[in-house]
Formats: sequence, structure tokens, C-alpha cells
Amino acid sequence: MIKAVRGTRDLLPPDTALWNFVETAARNVFRLYNYREIRTPIFEQTQLFSRSVGEETDIVSKEMFTWEDHGKAASEKSQSLTLRPEATAGIVRAYIEHDLGRSGLLQKLYLMGPMFRRERPQKGRYRQFYQIDAEVIGPPAAGSESPSVDAELLEMLATFLERIGITGWTLELNSVGCANDRPKYNEALRAAIAKDIDKMCEDCRRRAVTNPLRVLDCKVPEDQPIIDKLPRMLDYLDESCRQHFQAVQDLLAAVGVSYVINSRLVRGLDYYTRTAFEFTHGALGAQNAILGGGRYDGLSESLGGPKAPGIGFAIGEDRLVLALGKTAEELSTPPDAYIAPLGAGMNREAARLARGLRGQGVVIELGDETFRLKKSLETGGKIGARFAIIVGENEVKADAFALKNLTTGEQVTVPRTELGNRIKQ
Ligand code: AMP
Repeated sequence: MIKAVRGTRDLLPPDTALWNFVETAARNVFRLYNYREIRTPIFEQTQLFSRSVGEETDIVSKEMFTWEDHGKAASEKSQSLTLRPEATAGIVRAYIEHDLGRSGLLQKLYLMGPMFRRERPQKGRYRQFYQIDAEVIGPPAAGSESPSVDAELLEMLATFLERIGITGWTLELNSVGCANDRPKYNEALRAAIAKDIDKMCEDCRRRAVTNPLRVLDCKVPEDQPIIDKLPRMLDYLDESCRQHFQAVQDLLAAVGVSYVINSRLVRGLDYYTRTAFEFTHGALGAQNAILGGGRYDGLSESLGGPKAPGIGFAIGEDRLVLALGKTAEELSTPPDAYIAPLGAGMNREAARLARGLRGQGVVIELGDETFRLKKSLETGGKIGARFAIIVGENEVKADAFALKNLTTGEQVTVPRTELGNRIKQ
């Protein structure tokens, strides 16, 4: 038997109702903040990710699904392609490619779809997973650097979580500085790590050289006391980063969004500057981050584009669905009525009736003329329909149908023209 590939899974009904609920709520909330949808390809040139996410990150160094695509025609060159491991790089590429900054306006964009990382599968962690992603990006004159953009985005996330009924989340906030203050911090970090480096895990030893910020993200228990004593980025912020971070916090306080400062919060992608954040949730166990994001003021330039500061986030939809306090059954809507054609030739009449009722917005499941009435009524009950409509020769002649309430068993005869309203009552 051929099974789904390790780390991938099928999303089946009724569970898909949970996914639809979350996605619809996201679209509605994004609309209130004037975001518009963008869709980018699922695969891109490999160098887009290596240059933006960063060569030294786990994602690029070990988790990407990459292949050499050999051109079929002589005119096609072979190139290295990768299934997108995240959405921001593709969106910024599209921003540059289509010169979206030329309007001089902020671009507020969202994207929903699958991402791919070759991680070790476990609960809440998959190789194909789904993100709801949003980005605000634009030329500095559009206000793209303003702390109010950061605060609005965070407040929007709080609103979204509230709308879908997720409580008990924590907004963890940090500033990871910028190109101006980061080198000084990296130096201080390297010097501090050097003292204990032989006591640290292998990953930390490598990162201490290549990307010391990532040491802060180490989860190895033995390393924690050492990491807790390392210098904090917040003490190394330059004046403008410090003021920016303070302004974000003031605005959050003004709109009543609570947060905690986590000075060890660094994200798994290299492009982040200044504001970095995660929303975590207690119900999720080890993989407790439902969403994360941050600012990426130099990303566009590093991909050869114009100056276009931005900030964005990615919600892990798989984890969000796990944290939802709702069940799929609660969110699923059963059909209004089951139409039971009785006897040869009645499929045609049933189909005609179904078409008319569906046109009035009635949700119909259609039976078959070969089924006995008992089986039809049982099926109607099993699928949760409120009514069964019986279509037999007598009903067709009278143009009035037996409408059976499947909960009470009560049955009445209703003319065709009144059926729709009667069912919707
Ligand atoms: P990132 O793109 O790494 O910033 O992740 C953003 C969010 O995506 C995380 O907070 C998770 O909720 C989710 N996520 C990341 N990787 C996975 C994965 N392998 N499986 C499921 N969700 C994931």
C-alpha cells in the first residue's frame, strides 16, 4: 500500500472545518486592517532562501527540499530549486520583481499555504505544514520603519487570536538590534561564550563562530545556565533601536495588548532586525510557538532590491488548530435536507427539486431511486440532516412533497413552492 510520505499528512473532514474556520477568521481580520492577499509560487530558486534566511540557519543548512532541475529544452538551463520553507523571502522577491514600492504606499500583504522543511516529525511539527503569513513592507517614506507598524501588526494578531477563541497566549517580545549595533553585540557574545565553550553542545560551538546569536536559541538543558548569563542584546541597542523598541512597547500598552520581554528570543532566520516576537501557548507542549515574526529592515537590499523596511509574521496553522478550544463537529454544518427518490424514474424529479432548493440556499444531500425508504431515512439521520423530503410518483403529480422532520418524526405535505422557506424556518 502506498502511504503519505513521512512528515506529511492528509487533512480530512470533519477536521477541515477547523482549518476553514481559522482561515476565514484570518481573512476577515486582515480585511479590517486593509491587508490584501498575495500568492507566490511554492518553489523558488534555492539562492533566494540561502541569501535571505541565511546559510547558517537550520532551515537552509539542513531542512530544505532542494533539487537540481534539469532543463528539458536546450534553451532551458538547469537550476537549483527549493520548495519554500517560509513565505517572507518569496513575498519580498515579488515586491522587488514587480516594483511594488513604486506606488510609494505601504504594501500590506497576506499569504496562506503550505511550507516545507525536512525536520524530525513530531506532534505539532511536520515536513509539510501550513502557515498564515502577513507582511507590511514599503519605502521608508510610506512609514514602513515606524514602530506604529509593529504595534498595529501585534495588536492585529491579538485581535485574531481573540476572535477565534484562543486565550492563554503569551506575546514574547525582544529587539535583536540592527546592522549598526549587532556587530558589537556579536563580539561581546563571542567573548562571553569563549569562556565556557568547551562545556557547551556541538551546535553551540559551531554557532559561536558562525552565528553567535543563534546560541541563545539552544534548547540543550546543560547549556541553559551558561546561556542565561550571556550578555543581552537589549543592553547593546543603539539609541535609535532603543527608542524604536520603547515606542513599540508604549503603543502596545496604549491599545491594551500585554507582552513579556524575552531577551533570549531570537528567531531561526537571519534576516530579522529590531522587533522580534513569538506568541506561545501553554497547551502545545514542546512545540509551543503558535506564531512568530519580526522586522527585516535590510532584507530587500540583500536581495538586490530597493530600501524597503518591513515586518511580518507566520502563524503555524497546524499548531493553531491544536490550540483551538473548538471541535470539528461544533464547526461543521450538516445538510438541511436529504432527498429520497422513491422508485424507478424518480432520480430525475429528485434532481430537479434539489436544483430548485439549492438555488434558494438550502443544503441538500441527494439519495438514489434504488434505495428503499428505510435506508434513505437512516442515511438522512446519519449525515445529520434535519429533514428528509420524499419524492414519489404521487408527490410529483401533486407537486407537493412529504417533508419528514428527522428529529421529531413528524411528517407534513408541503407544496414545491413553499418547501425552501419551510426548511429554512
Ligand atoms: P518560522 O517560519 O520558523 O518563524 O515559524 C513560524 C511558525 O510556523 C511557528 O511558530 C510554528 O507555529 C510554525 N512552524 C514552523 N515549523 C513548523 C513545522 N515543521 N511544523 C508545523 N509548524 C511549524
